[in-house]
Amino acid sequence: MTQVIGKQAIIMDSPEFSAADIARGEALCKGPCVFVKGVTRIDDLPKDNRHEVAFAGRSNVGKSSLINALTGKKTLARVSVTPGRTRELNFFVLGKEGELHLVDMPGYGYARAAKAQIKGWTRLIGDYLKGRRELKRAFLLIDARHGIKPNDRETMKLLDETAVSYQVVLTKADKPKASELAAVQAKVAEELAKHPAAYPLILTTSASTGGGIPELRAAVAEIASQP
Ligand code: GDP
Repeated sequence: MTQVIGKQAIIMDSPEFSAADIARGEALCKGPCVFVKGVTRIDDLPKDNRHEVAFAGRSNVGKSSLINALTGKKTLARVSVTPGRTRELNFFVLGKEGELHLVDMPGYGYARAAKAQIKGWTRLIGDYLKGRRELKRAFLLIDARHGIKPNDRETMKLLDETAVSYQVVLTKADKPKASELAAVQAKVAEELAKHPAAYPLILTTSASTGGGIPELRAAVAEIASQP
């Protein structure tokens, strides 16, 4: 599929979603999205058995911007002035019928964070991923300019070990040149092929232009509709 992101026409290697899939994604994701709570202790996770999707990525990858674009809300997730400010698992309920939990995970790889703090988040994230049956897919956000970084690999390893199915979402795809983007897409795809829990299809997005957002919404809606 060819999609215009910014000034460039980009060949997307995201799946061919049908018009019905896209419409379903829009209906779900543009519906209500209500903040439930920020969890810092594993005992405090919501216990209502909703399907869940989580968004993970390096600090400053564009996670807040992507969640805002996904839900069509300008201020749902805080776009950070200071990277690494979100230290909680933030739970939102998405959809008219409250179909899905959307979880904004703490960004990792923030260089100025204290070691003890990093240890705390790492444990929280590890415990969450290990034991959470409701979690149907993690979206792993990767900056389209930089590709997979060492701490993304640590997260991928953790997701493989905990057998949480995950899908890579390239962010800020409006920034690289088309040829650079294609090279990053190919490299990421090659690396994903070696990871057992990774979903092979990469979604390429830009929160700035809205490119790839309908496809991401369709992917989220597909998860919400799983039995
Ligand atoms: P987070 O720390 O992962 O939540 O990242 P933010 O959403 O706060 O974004 C980090 C920075 O990247 C901000 O300056 C955003 O304006 C910028 N940004 C986020 N998404 C995009 C995008 O799609 N395109 C461009 N060009 N910049 C973006």
